[in-house]
Formats: sequence, C-alpha cells, structure tokens
Amino acid sequence: MQLWERYHVAESVEQALGWLADYGGAAQIVAGGTDLLLEIQQGSHPKAAALVDITRVPELTSIHTEADVLTLGAGVTHNAIVAHAVIRAQATCLAESCGVVGGPQVRNVATIGGNVAHALPAADGTLSLVALDAQAEIASPEGRTWLPIGDLFLGAGKSRVNPARELITRFRFKLAAAAEASAFKRIMRPQGVALPILGCAAWVQLDAGRERFTAVRLVIAPTAPTPLRAAEVESFLIGKSATAETLQAAADLARQTLTARTSKYRATAEYRSEMIALLARDALTTALERAVSGEVIPIIGG
Ligand SMILES: Cc1cc2nc3c(=O)[nH]c(=O)nc-3n(C[C@H](O)[C@H](O)[C@H](O)COP(=O)(O)OP(=O)(O)OC[C@H]3O[C@@H](n4cnc5c(N)ncnc54)[C@H](O)[C@@H]3O)c2cc1C
Repeated sequence: MQLWERYHVAESVEQALGWLADYGGAAQIVAGGTDLLLEIQQGSHPKAAALVDITRVPELTSIHTEADVLTLGAGVTHNAIVAHAVIRAQATCLAESCGVVGGPQVRNVATIGGNVAHALPAADGTLSLVALDAQAEIASPEGRTWLPIGDLFLGAGKSRVNPARELITRFRFKLAAAAEASAFKRIMRPQGVALPILGCAAWVQLDAGRERFTAVRLVIAPTAPTPLRAAEVESFLIGKSATAETLQAAADLARQTLTARTSKYRATAEYRSEMIALLARDALTTALERAVSGEVIPIIGG
C-alpha cells in the first residue's frame, strides 16, 4: 500500500512551512512516522497528498543548554533524549519516560515532537514535559510563538497545532537545581504496546534544609482527555514535611480527586483508581529521594 503521493524532506523550518502552504492543507508534517504512518496504513487517518519530513532540519534535531534552561528540538528522537547526560541528570523524568517508549526500533526514530503533537493523554514523554513545566515553540506562517505545553492539548488526540499548516519546533524547560528532582513511573501490560495503563511524572522542590516541599508538579494519566497536572495534590504537598506519611496522604488524595476510566484494552476504572495511589506514591518517593541525595538512578532503554 502506498502511504503518500509525494514526500518532501525539509532542510529548514521555513522550507517545511513553505511546502505545507503550497499544498493548502493537503500536506502534513511527518517525523518518525511511528504514529502517522500506522494510522494511514490502518485507515484511521486519511492519506495526505504529501508528507513533509522534518527529521533533517538541524534546528529541530539539536539539544542545547544555556544557563539553567535546556532547549530540545521537536525532532529529537527518544533514544537521543535517553542518551543525553544533562537530561538524565537534571530532567530525569524525561529520560526515564522516553526510555520506556515502544522498543529500541521505535525509540530510534520516534520523536518527542510527534509524541506531543499526537496529543494522547498518557503519551509517556509528553507527561514528563508537562511535569517539567515545559514551553513549546510553534512555527506557523504568522511567525513563531512560545506557549505553555498544557495549552497545546484540546482533547484526546486533538492538538492545537495543525500539522497541515504549522509545526512544533522546540521545547524548553528549566533544569533541576539543588534540592530539585523528578521521576517517571508507569504501569504497562506485559504484552502491551503504545500506551500504558497509567503513567506518572513527578517533579519536586525542597527547602534549603531538604525537609519540606516548596513546590511540586505531578501528572498522572490518563485521568482526563488531556495530560493534566494533579492540582489538589500539588497544593496539598506545599509546605508539608517530606516524609513517607505525607507522601501516603498525597497518594490517597490523588486516588480521591483523580478520575480513572475503564479502557477496553488496558484496565478497569477500579484497577486504575487503586494504581493511581500506588504510582503517585512511588514516583513522588523516588523524586524526593533524588532531591534529598542528589543521586540519579540509572535509566533503562536507549
Ligand atoms: C510499536 C509502537 C510502540 C509504541 N509505544 C509507545 C509508548 O510506549 N509510549 C508512547 O507514548 N508512545 C508509544 N508509541 C507511539 C509513538 O511512537 C510516539 O507517540 C512517538 O513519539 C510519535 O513520534 P513520531 O516522530 O513517530 O510521530 P509521527 O508519527 O511522525 O507523527 C505523529 C503526529 O504528529 C505530527 N507531528 C510530528 N512531528 C510534529 C511536529 N514537530 N510539529 C507538529 N506536528 C508534528 C504528525 O503530523 C502526526 O500527526 C508507540 C508506537 C509504536 C508503533
């Protein structure tokens, strides 16, 4: 089966935008193709007149740091993220989540931009970018703009970014400083592919004595049509002492305040609801231990 009529490999963002404009909405961005090509093949996505490949655009495939901010090209693959020493040490949840996506073949080509643009509520790398409070840069014919990553999601599989006219170019977020750390955990069926039963990304900041939480970001998904932060749990933790009892109370609050739903292929709402508490406690505990010790645990995958 032929999956496209024409295939253009862009060398710059401007060239990609130009091709999209030339086709007037009938062309679409492709990166690793691990979501898009399967959907076209399975008939759940219409065949595009042309695909515009952005994986050779240098700006989209680079990672750089300036002071305490890391800028990540949307075309960077999951394996490149897992292999990046600064991300592993100071944005650990992102390396951990990218390290469990699919298998090695998928991680070698699938990009972080494709993961976000596909807009599924429990996409692994996406959860970590939300927990890292990332911003995304969108390039369109009108110019470029930075948006909080949460603003990109309109519903399950619905993104504010229209890949037939615009693209995500980069993400940026602050790297962990002293007494800050993050962790990612997920529950996956052993034979499962693509999306987990539940995923959880946690980021914590402690006071100078490393005894109390001063800021927390927690994302557990899917608990809504978009990857949302657990606002009530985050507020509950601020100012509380960083103990196992506090984390258990936070985990119980997560179970009470977040909504799990039954999915035919993954799990019942009841099972997910129990696991929300377990996963929240586990991810927060690991992030806390890292923030206290400064130690980063080796990451699988890559
Ligand atoms: C076997 C298998 C296992 C998988 N396992 C997992 C898993 O465990 N966890 C998980 O989260 N996902 C998983 N996935 C899904 C998929 O690999 C990821 O979502 C991946 O990150 C998609 O990236 P891509 O570069 O392949 O996107 P593509 O398929 O190229 O594109 C996906 C969508 O995003 C658009 N797009 C791509 N890049 C951009 C951009 N820069 N700007 C705007 N729009 C863009 C495309 O037009 C398309 O609509 C799996 C897929 C497969 C096939």
